[in-house]
Amino acid sequence: MNEEMKQLADRLIAVHRLSAEEYEKLITGRDEELAEYLAKAAVAEQKRIYGNEIFVRGLLEISNICKNDCIYCGIRRSNRNCERYRLTEEEILACADEGYRLGLRTIVMQGGEDMHFSDDVLCGIVRKIKELHPDCAVTLSMGERSREGYAKLREAGADRYLLRHETADPEHYKKLHPAEMSYENRMRCLRDLKELGYQTGCGFMVGSPYQTAANLAADIAFVESFKPEMCGIGPFIPHHDTPFAKEPAGSVELTCFLLSVIRLVHPHVLLPATTALGTMHPQGRELGILAGANVLMPNLSPVGVRKKYELYDNKICTGEESAQCLHCLATRVEAIGYRLSEGRGDYRG
Ligand code: SAH
Repeated sequence: MNEEMKQLADRLIAVHRLSAEEYEKLITGRDEELAEYLAKAAVAEQKRIYGNEIFVRGLLEISNICKNDCIYCGIRRSNRNCERYRLTEEEILACADEGYRLGLRTIVMQGGEDMHFSDDVLCGIVRKIKELHPDCAVTLSMGERSREGYAKLREAGADRYLLRHETADPEHYKKLHPAEMSYENRMRCLRDLKELGYQTGCGFMVGSPYQTAANLAADIAFVESFKPEMCGIGPFIPHHDTPFAKEPAGSVELTCFLLSVIRLVHPHVLLPATTALGTMHPQGRELGILAGANVLMPNLSPVGVRKKYELYDNKICTGEESAQCLHCLATRVEAIGYRLSEGRGDYRG
């Protein structure tokens, strides 16, 4: 680590912001020593705010039917080889119950943009979960919707919403999405969610096709200004039935580096060590936590559908029962000096 990089790192640690050009410099000029230096500072911030608790979110993959055609995604509508499924309301409630019994206090419903899950249908499910488990937070990750839809869902009791911005560069956005999707609408959704009082999550893939260091610097600058309560980042992993099948995957090393940078830019942010990170490396999620992440999202979906919710190849945790997944995670975090939290794990802003 040379003197210039050290100075940038120290300023980031002290004032939690750099210019976009400086973020880019940090990314392109990084080495192992810098990564360790930032990780140490990031973990210190995480522990100062959240202690050694890792928050757990039960992830329910409620449908892989999608009207969108994101080029990178395995469940895009053009993928004829994807075997489609949709959970019934009864199945969703049964999985939520199981999560509750296992001690989870956040239920995340994620899915493709499946028109069956209209605002009214989804509101009904959110209401039921909140009625049965009033001490649980309900998080939605159901894509782009109207402001009115987001407002209704919020009134029905949804607490949080995850919608990755995917890239903060409109030109890069166009290379990852079909013409009918827009960067502007994605950003409109994020603004609406925040204004409606959701704990809001943005995020992006690391190493997505055509991504430059300047793009990543823009992503960090976006996180710095938007101040999301949550930020999901994970390596891009190619899916064999998409146009990006032959593209290289993103790196674990760069993902962990960026986790540290994001923790330092926005110390209170809830930052998951994602399943994609775990897919790229057997200890990927532990490495993420040791870089500053503090959230894990075990899979609560019925085992029979987990392989079908295939956003990318070789996704992990598709075979085990939810209880096993949770036990495995508890053991893993204890081995690195953390423990799984029993609470809702709200943002401490
Ligand atoms: N339909 C919802 C949920 C999308 S899936 C929505 O639009 O928000 C959740 C996230 O998985 C996406 O936001 C994307 O960043 C990530 N993802 C999709 N395909 C991926 C791939 N091939 N590799 C890694 N992450 C991927």
